[in-house]
Amino acid sequence: MPLFEFTCTDCGKSFEELVRSASAVNEVICPACHSQQVRKKVSTFASKVSGGGSFSLGSNAASSCSTGST
Ligand SMILES: [Zn+2]
Repeated sequence: MPLFEFTCTDCGKSFEELVRSASAVNEVICPACHSQQVRKKVSTFASKVSGGGSFSLGSNAASSCSTGST
């Protein structure tokens, strides 16, 4: 289920709402002032940037502890 962000144009409150269908968007009301003058904001899903990169652990010095033979 898509989670949309809305902004009330009456009181300016931003809120999130689960919208089941496209038609349900028009039925969303502001939880603060119960106004129907809400605007859907741009989805935040698309703004996710895959950061990071290939970080390689430094070449561990293979310290073979072969000191056990007594
Ligand atoms: Zn409002």
